[in-house]
Amino acid sequence: MSGILVVLEDRAEKIRSTSWEALAAALKLGSAQSVTAVVLGAQTEALAGEAAAKGVGKVVRVEHPLLARYTADAYCAVLQQLIQNESPTHVVFPHTYQVRDFAPALAARMGQALIGDVVAIEDGPVFVRQLMQGRLNGSYRHHGNGPCFVSVQTGAFRADTVEMNETTAVTTFIPNLDAAQIRTKPSEPFREAAQTVDLASAQRIVSVGRGIKEVENLGLVQDLAAAIGAELAASRPICDNGWLPMERQVGSSGQTVAPKLYLAVGISGAIQHLVGMKGSQCIVAINKDPEAPIFEVADYGIVGDLFEVVPALTEAVKAVKA
Ligand SMILES: Cc1cc2nc3c(=O)[nH]c(=O)nc-3n(C[C@H](O)[C@H](O)[C@H](O)COP(=O)(O)OP(=O)(O)OC[C@H]3O[C@@H](n4cnc5c(N)ncnc54)[C@H](O)[C@@H]3O)c2cc1C
Repeated sequence: MSGILVVLEDRAEKIRSTSWEALAAALKLGSAQSVTAVVLGAQTEALAGEAAAKGVGKVVRVEHPLLARYTADAYCAVLQQLIQNESPTHVVFPHTYQVRDFAPALAARMGQALIGDVVAIEDGPVFVRQLMQGRLNGSYRHHGNGPCFVSVQTGAFRADTVEMNETTAVTTFIPNLDAAQIRTKPSEPFREAAQTVDLASAQRIVSVGRGIKEVENLGLVQDLAAAIGAELAASRPICDNGWLPMERQVGSSGQTVAPKLYLAVGISGAIQHLVGMKGSQCIVAINKDPEAPIFEVADYGIVGDLFEVVPALTEAVKAVKA
């Protein structure tokens, strides 16, 4: 057994950004040369082209007319064949709804478990998963024969660490697949949520918490978000109150985000909130309580009253841009 397979997922004929994060995770397990990126479909040329531009050893196009629409049965059948062919040490996926649908069954077929929703990879390799709403971290090591199946949490690995490469070899794998093997009738792909805002791919987020006190005060953070070109997000109480839509909630029961800038305004930093944003590249927190837990993950902390700090910051940003 050698090498690492990373199974990329696409939507509307584009590789999804979470797949590049899975690729970044795969690159923590081995050299770029040892990583093979896998794309699946009925026609995968464009997807393979996207993957081949990344710094990986090889791209494999798994092509079959019956892969035109996703089904768990077809994905399990063809990936099992590919894995038997390639004999990788690890198979890495993004932890998407689609992966949750088929990857545990694929791993079980091959006598393995799936280490799901991994947030970090340490030497060993040891895979870290969060337990009990993020209160505890569990460390998992793969034992025994056969490949180790891993899916990685959105936002846990940095897609921008993957280097580019113009000379990646692309090969095609034609699996044996029969319509009789597919027990389900494909329907519309599952949508993670009917969202008008995609916080997961936002570069800048201004996130507001209960410190804002009243719905009428939200304009303050909306102005700041507009000034810095950020998406507006919130902690759970804000969304529970109906002050902002649920799709803007960050945390264990909301979205996981990893922007370049996460500006937390009047948010205490409860663990359920932190698990959704601590992968952000730069965290700035504004809170009047110097002991607020948000400061433990913040790169920059501003201890002060948000009703003074936020308008001043908005004006300062506008002045710089003027
Ligand atoms: C199963 C479960 C799932 C959950 N999922 C989520 C989730 O997905 N996302 C989430 O966010 N929470 C979630 N929670 C809730 C979480 O535990 C916290 O209750 C919540 O995150 C607190 O939100 P907050 O920080 O806005 O409010 P608070 O904890 O009330 O904090 C408000 C902060 O504002 C500061 N503040 C007050 N006034 C000012 C001022 N004038 N200027 C500056 N600072 C000020 C205070 O010092 C305080 O730190 C979940 C809880 C459970 C049990």
